[in-house]
Amino acid sequence: MKIYKKAETLKNRIKQTNLSPVGFVPTMGALHNGHLSLVQNAVSQCPVVVVSIYVNPEQFNEKEDLKCYPRTTESDLNLLKSTLRKNDMVFIPDDKEIYPAKDNRVFSFGNLDNVMEAKFRRGHFTGVARVITRLFDIVTPDIAYFGQKDFQQLAVIKKLVRQTGRKIRIASNPTVRENDGLAMSSRNMLLEKEHRKNARIIYCSLLNASKMISDHNIEDIRNYVRNSIEKMPGFKIEYFEIVDDEELIPVSEKNEMKENKSYYGCIAVRAGKIRLIDNIEIHAL
Ligand code: AMP
Repeated sequence: MKIYKKAETLKNRIKQTNLSPVGFVPTMGALHNGHLSLVQNAVSQCPVVVVSIYVNPEQFNEKEDLKCYPRTTESDLNLLKSTLRKNDMVFIPDDKEIYPAKDNRVFSFGNLDNVMEAKFRRGHFTGVARVITRLFDIVTPDIAYFGQKDFQQLAVIKKLVRQTGRKIRIASNPTVRENDGLAMSSRNMLLEKEHRKNARIIYCSLLNASKMISDHNIEDIRNYVRNSIEKMPGFKIEYFEIVDDEELIPVSEKNEMKENKSYYGCIAVRAGKIRLIDNIEIHAL
């Protein structure tokens, strides 16, 4: 694999290879097996793969979160070495490469702008859209790989690609989990010891919620999830919603769930200062 810091050099190199499809995996580094599953998928489908590592300040709505976000470039590169091939590329730009001028673009994603992550992290998806469109323009991928763990982000990216008429296939990978079920996340390493131990409750509650749908109403399920998670010292739920997988419209009664649609229970939890998100498919009956 080759490492590039300059957008222009990377762009030219991708053109020169003349291989397709070009696979692209955007990341913010602090790589773990969740990221690697995307990279492996890309490598299995594309003769050339670009992985970007860039902590995008525009998508952080809390200064402290940006400051504390783990940066582990050296070990990231070692991990990537074991998966990427000779022709593959790693793009590690600095802020000036991504934002040579102030980016004031505004995006609109309909209901996706109003619920869950968008409600609790104002401006987050504008920041995501700014960096992803910029990266798409540099890499010009045929297939871009994203994780289902960031469920709302995936829906936003799909919509963004439709809105901007880009010919990019968005491939999604299932969430990779730790042995105890906690969704892998770069933020997990920031959890206090006690919180890390108890964080298994999040996926455990989601699993139970997905089973409860057969004989409980939505209100009961919401109460169950809230009570079981907030029982843990220092844990607070920001939201738990059951939504469809396109417009992410929350359902409040089971009879709103349509047979031909997929639904997901999506959650954001604060464990101390660290914010964790996860989701699970919930089958309409
Ligand atoms: P991030 O570095 O957090 O921006 O994530 C980069 C990509 O990896 C995004 O598409 C994420 O959805 C994906 N990702 C992060 N964690 C996981 C996970 N546990 N399983 C699968 N994909 C993941």
